[in-house]
Amino acid sequence: MRRYRHAKIVATVGPATNTPEMLKALFLAGVDTFRLNFSHGLQEDHARVHAAIRALETEVGRPIGILQDLQGPKIRVGTVRDGRLDLVAGERVRFVLGGSEGGKDAIPLNHPEIFKAVIPGQELLIDDGRVRVRVVGVDAAVIEAEVVTAGAVSNRKGVNLPGTLLDLSPLTEKDRADLAFGLELGVDWVALSFVQKPSDVLEARGLIGDRAGIMTKVEKPQALERIEDIIRLSDAVMVARGDLGVEIPHEDVPGRQKELIRACRLAVKPVVVATQMLDSMVGAPAPSRAEASDVATAIYDGADAVMLSAESATGLYPVEAVAMMDRIIRSVEGHKLYRSIIAASEPGEEETPPHAVATATAVLAEAVQANAIVAYTTSGTTAARVARKRPAVPILALTPSRETARRLSLLWGTHSVRTDDVDSYEEMTTKACHHAQEEGFAKPNDMIVAAAGIPFHTVGNTNNIRVIQM
Ligand code: PGA
Ligand code: MN
Repeated sequence: MRRYRHAKIVATVGPATNTPEMLKALFLAGVDTFRLNFSHGLQEDHARVHAAIRALETEVGRPIGILQDLQGPKIRVGTVRDGRLDLVAGERVRFVLGGSEGGKDAIPLNHPEIFKAVIPGQELLIDDGRVRVRVVGVDAAVIEAEVVTAGAVSNRKGVNLPGTLLDLSPLTEKDRADLAFGLELGVDWVALSFVQKPSDVLEARGLIGDRAGIMTKVEKPQALERIEDIIRLSDAVMVARGDLGVEIPHEDVPGRQKELIRACRLAVKPVVVATQMLDSMVGAPAPSRAEASDVATAIYDGADAVMLSAESATGLYPVEAVAMMDRIIRSVEGHKLYRSIIAASEPGEEETPPHAVATATAVLAEAVQANAIVAYTTSGTTAARVARKRPAVPILALTPSRETARRLSLLWGTHSVRTDDVDSYEEMTTKACHHAQEEGFAKPNDMIVAAAGIPFHTVGNTNNIRVIQM
């Protein structure tokens, strides 16, 4: 079975969708990669979902991606007196290291790194930015602050520090335990939350190696400052607009989204646009016009994938939300302005032989009106380089690696199939024709274009293009 769109859909699994029946319904509606959100749920719940997705994969005969999203160093206040403090604009409050049931003069904030890093003038944003306080004084155990935006602070509410680089590992003790668990299960991608600097990605790489792809969530302004290095060290990127929209002004998020998508296309890394895309569908069978437009914009921007969070995890209409995304993507990709918009946002390219060959493959396939580009790929990079051109012709990626086939479920325009490696040019041609027909891309007499590296069995040396009449 194949999908009739280029951009991909990621859906978060949660209480609304964690049964085999619902997972299958979501897949049939269009989900390409499932996200397991380790900020919620127990390890054994995630293990059951993982097993159900792998069983579904066998049942439907298609590779399906699984993304483990680690909670990361999410900062929270402790417990406060009577469970809630109503902060008034202009008043002075104090945050203290440790303690519980604190009043306005001793709000517990059990994160020593914050006391070391903040300086007067910086702001603490509480509860997704609903409440803001400005630091006026700080020592090793006390932060004095003035309330800028009034509101309630209740137990365990999240705290964001937009202007502050914190001396935090992106991996907490919980993350390390969850990561070991996820790698043991065999997840395809690991998402890192609150990455601040390139070394955060390297630290994770030390633990993950090549056992899973690393998807960096961009949700801190500090990450934006070093974004090129961060993208280079990552295998994929998520534009995590939820926290990003708390840490930087709302009005700057759309521009950052466009920049990040372009930078990822340039670097040949898949990029996912996430959070509140169809938020109304958590409780309603249809999205707002603005939300439909938001999904469409991500597609016109050239994102590899768009993501559902609460809509599919806890919402009342998870299958409808996926189906809506699928329809929006297909409508945009069929729109008469789509090709010219996508082409206009194409970043310049690296002048290396593999890039040039991939680019030529995409151009040639369009010129001969091929029905498919067959890319032989071991690690997935050949397919990614072709996809970077965003060709109108679908990419059929043939790989001997089951892991690569699953990871490619996130990649724009790519339908991946696991096959045995080929040994000869003859075999390459027959196999390309066989799979193009079997997967529903082409029939006898149709044209396909195959790209491969010769000699076979060597990684990353795409150097051969062949136009094949089936
Ligand atoms: P989260 O990440 O859902 O784990 O917070 C995504 C975001 O912040 O947008
Ligand atoms: Mn987040």
